[in-house]
Amino acid sequence: MNRFIEFTAPGIAGLRPYVPGKPVSELERELGITDSIKLASNENPLGPGPRARAAVAGLLDDLARYPDGGGFELRNALAAFHGTEAGSITLGNGSNDVLDLIARTFLAPGHEAVFSEHAFAVYAICTQAVGAASRVAPAHDGSRGPRFGHDLAAMGELVGDKTRVVFIANPNNPTGTWLAKDELHAFIAGLPAHVMVVVDEAYAEYVQEDAYPDATRWLPRHPNLIVTRTFSKAHGLAALRVGYGLSHPDVAELLNRVRQPFNVNAPALAAAHAALDDREHIEKSVALNRAGMAQLTAGFEAMGLDYIPSAGNFVCVDVGRCAAEVDALLLREGCITRPVGNYGMPRHLRVTVGLEEENRRFLEALERVLEC
Ligand SMILES: *Cc1c(COP(=O)(O)O)cnc(C)c1O
Repeated sequence: MNRFIEFTAPGIAGLRPYVPGKPVSELERELGITDSIKLASNENPLGPGPRARAAVAGLLDDLARYPDGGGFELRNALAAFHGTEAGSITLGNGSNDVLDLIARTFLAPGHEAVFSEHAFAVYAICTQAVGAASRVAPAHDGSRGPRFGHDLAAMGELVGDKTRVVFIANPNNPTGTWLAKDELHAFIAGLPAHVMVVVDEAYAEYVQEDAYPDATRWLPRHPNLIVTRTFSKAHGLAALRVGYGLSHPDVAELLNRVRQPFNVNAPALAAAHAALDDREHIEKSVALNRAGMAQLTAGFEAMGLDYIPSAGNFVCVDVGRCAAEVDALLLREGCITRPVGNYGMPRHLRVTVGLEEENRRFLEALERVLEC
């Protein structure tokens, strides 16, 4: 018997690791197939823009050097972009790293984090990893807000003396549901001062809704607010792992105490800096996403399948039966998508919006699979 399990830090023994989308190479190795498509991890099907590519290529001669541990240039560029100061920015190895820094800075055994049912899986993982408890609010049932969406009133009811962090994904992954400006701002303004509220805006660039808020605007008035953003989604840089948090400078200073000095590598710093102002690539990516979303949802409607309206670059479709089984059949067709049973949605498949050709192949495969 291995007894090490008894000696782990609180929370670790019961921790279930994050399940990532299957890499294309793994599927092709397992099935001996080629030419498969991956619509499983909300990556930008166009990849990074030309400026980010050039920045990475230009870094090849510097790989022997440690990166700038303070991320001076990127933090200054981000500060200018968001109209804030560099001291309010915390760089992360992906925004998941920032979420983890927040948990390590503000949560400990005896504390609680509040988030919604069906919320992004990393909130539960980083909470449990530091020995704190998760309080999960039921999502909307469709009567007072979008079905599967965060119910802020229900979340507010779970906030108490032990609460230190509230995680809100806007829009949320995997549901694609989003919160409007007035509702979200009222919730944040009503939180007690001992609670840090994290608004995770990983998909902000994709959202086309007029009532969708840019929560970074609220930072000057709310010192307990942290907004996270990433270069992994619309900027197409998931492989490089770079994201950031925006907060009151005193909060950023705390997060930066916990941060590993070289958590963001040099190609990532350079590519993110180059990508930040590349409006053209973002606009192209957003336009492609809008068309692809229309293509996918029209396909679902034609098949009589229900889906959750999404503001992101992915959509959850109700396949009317165990989605893990449908996923297994789709894999044989060379299509990697994401069943979301681990999110309490056993009949939904989350599909990332891909290129037109990828979306078409996926819809055709889904139709074949559901017919049999
Ligand atoms: C993808 C995602 C992230 C972050 O991913 P990183 O690659 O670590 O930046 C954060 N939040 C949500 C809701 C996501 O879907």
